[in-house]
Amino acid sequence: MGVLDVVPAGVLTGDNVRKLFEYAKEQQFAIPAINVTSSSTANAVLEAARDIKAPIILQVSQGGSAYFAGKGLANDRQQASILGAIAAAHHIRTVAKEYGVPVVLHSDHCAHKLLPWFDGMLKADEEYFQRHGEALFSSHMLDLSEESKEDNIATCVQYFKRMAPLGLWLEMEIGITGGEEDGVDNTGVDNSKLYTQPEDIFDVYSALSAVSPNFSIAAAFGNVHGVYKPGNVKLHPELLQKHQVYAEEKLNGKKKPLFLVFHGGSGSTKEEIKTAVTNGVVKMNVDTDTQFAYLAGIRNFVQNKSGYLQTQVGNPEGADKPNKKYYDPRVWVREGEKTLSARVKEACADLGNVDRL
Ligand SMILES: [Zn+2]
Repeated sequence: MGVLDVVPAGVLTGDNVRKLFEYAKEQQFAIPAINVTSSSTANAVLEAARDIKAPIILQVSQGGSAYFAGKGLANDRQQASILGAIAAAHHIRTVAKEYGVPVVLHSDHCAHKLLPWFDGMLKADEEYFQRHGEALFSSHMLDLSEESKEDNIATCVQYFKRMAPLGLWLEMEIGITGGEEDGVDNTGVDNSKLYTQPEDIFDVYSALSAVSPNFSIAAAFGNVHGVYKPGNVKLHPELLQKHQVYAEEKLNGKKKPLFLVFHGGSGSTKEEIKTAVTNGVVKMNVDTDTQFAYLAGIRNFVQNKSGYLQTQVGNPEGADKPNKKYYDPRVWVREGEKTLSARVKEACADLGNVDRL
């Protein structure tokens, strides 16, 4: 029995997304969500998942989506972010099945001011649904954690009512992930907001489960986006157990009812990750570490082959030697894909997401 006995390969939609997360929760593993910004990074992540026989989550941020469409496009009305997210989704849909792994296709943080981006993706989901009977994406995140709890939940419910008939999964955030990511700076935020309370989580659960069971909650337990010096971040993944227990009691003993998401986990210890997964984390975001990994292969190549990269012809082996096989982007970008892919495999191993198919 493995993941492919539960869901098919390729991009998952509808209840298959929940079936995958339910299976992960039962088996006590989590799936990393890797931010992708290009076909190159997307392919490298899919390749990693295929090699280690694991399901995978590919996600695009608002900024990453704009990059996917091209930095040369204007984005004053989120038009590039909308088009880039759609382009990424179509690319991933086109190739995912060939890699033979189940894929959750997700969009990352969407704060209030970015809602036009969300609206654009949702419109694309509706159009895709009309033609194919399923949404373009598997899942979207709304991050209204900066709003009051009431406004956060009300807006999530409003969007979720539109998403549920399309079978879309909703990830929402309550409490704040510290640090800075994709232009949103939470480095100065009030400390209490960095640890979500069980009552707040249950309020979210009650409101959203009335619409559909297909949602997850990114709760704050001291997490911070980015990488900091050891000791600067106090993670408390054991707090997540309190959320589950509180919800269990309210729901007459329904075991571990919450699907939880781990943001801002770069630099956390294996022990912290394990505790989070034991407590119902089914998705962990990985961006900072994979960004650095993508650079590493390219940086090493450029440094090691420096003598072959200065002119189109002429290198240490001779003044008339051509350098095309060194400066062809399929050679040096590929080196970044290899180191990115290796880092994705490491993230999967940390989460117990290996040999799961
Ligand atoms: Zn995040």
